[in-house]
Amino acid sequence: MNPITLTRSINQLPTELIDHIYTFDYNHRKQMNNIYSELLLYIHNASMKYVLCELIEEFSIVCSNEYCEEYILQEDDVIYEEIMGHSYPFCCDRCVGEGGYWIRYDYRKSLRRQNKFKCMN
Ligand SMILES: [Zn+2]
Repeated sequence: MNPITLTRSINQLPTELIDHIYTFDYNHRKQMNNIYSELLLYIHNASMKYVLCELIEEFSIVCSNEYCEEYILQEDDVIYEEIMGHSYPFCCDRCVGEGGYWIRYDYRKSLRRQNKFKCMN
């Protein structure tokens, strides 16, 4: 392939690829290896950040303490607490106490409201 045909072929590629191709200089290959590795890792991290967030949301459990809501990534780290007939996941013993208190509090508050409406009708 002659240089003119090669240049025309390169110019038909998407802009991102053209920019990447023109940054390449075979004289810099050895010196640029570390920088290209860092750039590749940076681009990979930037583009995969949203995928990672989706995966974490999909495959993790959220702590039931509404003031924590930490993602629990390992099934072994989950502490399940039975509260009024329902099983709630928590990340730690502190959240079992605090989160359990607020779940019971909200449940009692909703029962009081329901009873109040029943009395009015
Ligand atoms: Zn928690």
